[in-house]
Amino acid sequence: MKFEEPVTEIIKRAYNVKSFRFRRPEAFDFKAGQYITVTLEDNGKKTGKPFTLSSSPTEKEHIEFTKKLTGHEYSNLLDAMEVGDPAHISGPFGKMTFEGEYEKIALLSGGIGITPMISICKYATDLKLSTDIMLMCSDRTEQDMIFVEELEAMKKENPKLTVFNTLTKASDNWAGCRGRICESMVMEELPDYAERVFYVCGPPPMVDSMLEMLHKMKIPDSMIHKESLIGY
Ligand SMILES: Cc1cc2nc3c(=O)[nH]c(=O)nc-3n(C[C@H](O)[C@H](O)[C@H](O)COP(=O)(O)OP(=O)(O)OC[C@H]3O[C@@H](n4cnc5c(N)ncnc54)[C@H](O)[C@@H]3O)c2cc1C
Repeated sequence: MKFEEPVTEIIKRAYNVKSFRFRRPEAFDFKAGQYITVTLEDNGKKTGKPFTLSSSPTEKEHIEFTKKLTGHEYSNLLDAMEVGDPAHISGPFGKMTFEGEYEKIALLSGGIGITPMISICKYATDLKLSTDIMLMCSDRTEQDMIFVEELEAMKKENPKLTVFNTLTKASDNWAGCRGRICESMVMEELPDYAERVFYVCGPPPMVDSMLEMLHKMKIPDSMIHKESLIGY
């Protein structure tokens, strides 16, 4: 489906991350984990980029995507957008989806790769699904962590949701886990890892290293869904 909609809300998530919301057309149907293409026009030049939806299919009024601002051309166009400015949207696309079909899942995210995981967590929470969810997020610093309050609110509503954060460049004050997601971390936090279906999303090097780790842990490809955020 293709449609044009004005931005209805812009939410600053971190110093370099913004979410953009649009009215959700009635006919726009998608699954948690999927992505859209957002095309912007500047002086007659059109550029489109893919973004996973950070809103859930259960949210009927709006759709939302979340962009890490890079200072590059397209990113600057988005950063300068104001409520009311139009965007061309097409989608949904993508095979990394969740529809409540698994009993236990593990979501491994790197940086902005948390966006489809938020959609999945919100979907499961809103529908009160019995799926046991472990979300493992890897970020650089405390300032790079996004959707922290939203996840706290979801955890209060959903006893089956656990969130684990690890930081690669944490400040001295950080009392949580340090370093990238690794085999020993997964084994410690998820003793039942062999029973879980894994979802992996992040920049390509992060996704590649997670796949290598999961293969080493003898997780079959049939138990792994992934989306590489090509472009980082
Ligand atoms: C399926 C999918 C889903 C995605 N979902 C998301 C999402 O939810 N959120 C999100 O933020 N991104 C997402 N992405 C990535 C997104 O589409 C963009 O590619 C990304 O945001 C970078 O776009 P940009 O215009 O900011 O940077 P670009 O200009 O495309 O730059 C990207 C990289 O190219 C290099 N580069 C480009 N120009 C220069 C330059 N002049 N000098 C030096 N280096 C340069 C840099 O290494 C830079 O990091 C997704 C990608 C895919 C494939």
